[in-house]
Amino acid sequence: MEIYCKSALSKSKLPGIDYSLNPYFGCSYSCIYCYVPSLFNVERNEWRNVKVKKNMPDVLRKELRKKRKGIVGISSSTDAYQPLEKQYEITKKCLSMLSTYKWPIDILTKSDFFTRDLKIIKECNAKVGVTITTFNEEILQLWEPYAPNPENRLKAIQKFADEGIFTYIFFGPVFPLMKKDELNYCIEEFISAGVDEIIVDCLHLKRGVIESISKVFPNIIKYRKAHEDIFIEAKKIAEGKIAITKAW
Ligand code: SF4
Repeated sequence: MEIYCKSALSKSKLPGIDYSLNPYFGCSYSCIYCYVPSLFNVERNEWRNVKVKKNMPDVLRKELRKKRKGIVGISSSTDAYQPLEKQYEITKKCLSMLSTYKWPIDILTKSDFFTRDLKIIKECNAKVGVTITTFNEEILQLWEPYAPNPENRLKAIQKFADEGIFTYIFFGPVFPLMKKDELNYCIEEFISAGVDEIIVDCLHLKRGVIESISKVFPNIIKYRKAHEDIFIEAKKIAEGKIAITKAW
């Protein structure tokens, strides 16, 4: 479904971000831990019916001329590189605009096809991150069933790191029952991809998320505070090798 937006840049309270830019409303990756539908009071099933903000590049052009320059976080409440982007290229058009006006950007995605825009992103003052929550295939099929394979996401971010662009892994929400050897594997994989930073995040149990997760992992909520221990362990593994911070 195509819709028309009134604004492109919204003020953001996220750390290190001045504005958010979300070219789509909804997300077809359907991660079971996604808390965005509850922020917008949208049913979880409805969240999969993605709406394309077709006029966003035009709206953005006007705003870039008027607004005070700041860091633009791309896709705080959707994924800017979900499958519809291949057809509509809204993100690509917005990036070109941001590059022309020389606005700094911070892109975070769960996709691997953002490599399409490497050339444009290289011309921006950019930070680029991919979300990876686990490499465990069995968990992934239930946890984030429609998202691209994490190995491919890692290969994609490596291309950006190789180009000297600031890159990071958003490691969250970490799977609460992650075992020590799995955690070790994840951190070592992130380090070998050459990224600059790892940001660890926990589960955000907003309305609807507990129900969604409990349907698939009935006991997992009991372990919802496991992220504290996981972070301490991750920090030990990463020490002296890579910067690691927590998002909560
Ligand atoms: S990729 Fe992000 S926005 Fe999309 S469903 Fe998953 S958590 Fe939600």
